Amino acid sequence: MPVRRRAFIETYGCQMNIGDSELMAGALAGRGYVTVDDPARADVIVINTCAIREHAETRVLGRIGQLQVHRRNHPDLVLAVTGCMAQRMGKNLLDRTAGVDIVAGPDSYRRLGDLVDEMRFEGLPRGQMLLALDETEAYEGVDAIRREGVTAWVTVQRGCDHRCTFCIVPYVRGSEKNREPSAVLREVREAVAAGYSEVSLLGQTVNSYRIGDWDFARLLQAVARVDGVRRVRFTSPHPNDVSDRMVRVMAEEPAVCPQLHLPVQSGSDRILKRMVRRYTVQQFLDTVGRVRESVPGIALSTDVIVGFPGENEKDFESTLSLLRQVRFDDAFLYRYSLRDGTPATRLPAGDFVSDKTSGRRLEEAISLHRSIQREINEGEVGSEHEVLVERPARSEGDVLGRTGTGKVVAFPGTPEYRNTYRTVRLTSTSGPTFRGEAVT
Ligand code: SF4
Repeated sequence: MPVRRRAFIETYGCQMNIGDSELMAGALAGRGYVTVDDPARADVIVINTCAIREHAETRVLGRIGQLQVHRRNHPDLVLAVTGCMAQRMGKNLLDRTAGVDIVAGPDSYRRLGDLVDEMRFEGLPRGQMLLALDETEAYEGVDAIRREGVTAWVTVQRGCDHRCTFCIVPYVRGSEKNREPSAVLREVREAVAAGYSEVSLLGQTVNSYRIGDWDFARLLQAVARVDGVRRVRFTSPHPNDVSDRMVRVMAEEPAVCPQLHLPVQSGSDRILKRMVRRYTVQQFLDTVGRVRESVPGIALSTDVIVGFPGENEKDFESTLSLLRQVRFDDAFLYRYSLRDGTPATRLPAGDFVSDKTSGRRLEEAISLHRSIQREINEGEVGSEHEVLVERPARSEGDVLGRTGTGKVVAFPGTPEYRNTYRTVRLTSTSGPTFRGEAVT
């Protein structure tokens, strides 16, 4: 009987993890594994995890338990937990959780296919860990196998040199490493040849990219000018690295989408200092002003943490006031989640905000953001946008796509619309998303 090699990969967390899962699919393909959509059909299950909040880890622990059911029919199944949570928990994950065979951190994916095969066919014991951080690993030579959506996720940078006190990323992904521009451009050209016209450049602080005389602005421009690239997005920039050159490229290159995610985290200088974000509220506002002046109509989104240790009502009010002032098109609002190993754990115990208070603040911030978002989006009803169709919508007979500004629109269409551009008039909004009708 031929040997079966089928892999199921489940992804949690940020877009970087989507890119990493595609790399893992590539590493497994090097050993002949094809990816499947159903864990019941898989010989290897990979859970690619996130460590940014406790809630994300709790979900994964539950999922590991659920997936054990597949061992009943397939006792040789290999279950690998990869990504930031794997790196953070390491051996604890093996000790605390029955049924995990491999624990692999973000710099170990190249070895994944080999390790799975050694375990399945060569008697390598279960319970292996691959956790070494490797300053040189940029995954050159491992071809991503893209499966999700109509966007080609292209990682240009891994790791982070900042040390924001709430964040676990620098400890699980190591310091910043940038890929050679020639390798990035080759990957973009290959993605275009495979049918992608939208590219999203990924990095923990993507706009701090620098290698030789290439900075992020130069890379962004070069990607935008690759034949066949119609849309370029990037995430996640750091507010301090929004250079004038980068803004100029955003304004001048038609392929660069008028959308910018600019994580502010707090609207209080006192809290920003405690977070070691290295900008003040005024500096952030100046950056917003510069960007809006150069790229009229740009959609801005942000991340905010409420209830960071030491945050008092006045600090929180300052955050609400910043939300009112900037009027972000979208905002990802979270309450602070303590992560072992981060500098914030050393803040005085008395500074920690109670769950009740941070929960109330989160609700208030969400409600404010939603009302702002609704007002912005109601103002856009009636306008026409080019939409790249991603997939069928939940509502029958509709498809779902995004405008250049990143807004989600559902409109009547058939599955054949996927990966095509349509001009769509926005006819109504639910608040965060739109309904529309195709005009071409
Ligand atoms: S910039 Fe700060 S929040 Fe972003 S990944 Fe680095 S340490 Fe984390």
